Amino acid sequence: MIDKNAEKQYDTEKEIDHKEFLEMIPHYLAGDLREKDLLLFLDHIKTCHSCYEELETAFMVDRTVRYLDDELDDDAEGSYDLPRMMKDDIREKTREVYARQNARHVFRVILIIVIMAVVLVLGDFFDIWDITGMI
Ligand SMILES: [Zn+2]
Repeated sequence: MIDKNAEKQYDTEKEIDHKEFLEMIPHYLAGDLREKDLLLFLDHIKTCHSCYEELETAFMVDRTVRYLDDELDDDAEGSYDLPRMMKDDIREKTREVYARQNARHVFRVILIIVIMAVVLVLGDFFDIWDITGMI
């Protein structure tokens, strides 16, 4: 499912078969979907009821297995509301993916500012322009 056509798939998002999203479910639960696929996936389950239900089932199985394996703390015990937990999980993953994109954007802006500053300083140093003289 993760291939070189990822770009193309993004554009033709609506035409992708549900099957592809169903194949993404285990990766979603394992947390190893690529960002682009994760965005597609999150976007799809927002509107696709049948895929959402499939995810809900898979989520319950996954969490139950982990619970039995003692991977999860018992904090949630008593209020073991799996559909609710899944909604929180989706919200959290959506937040994370956008936060990551934001961080990348901020990093790019900072990088551009640093490059511009370096260019200005070098230009001054090599007498291409005279910034220090202007101050
Ligand atoms: Zn679907």
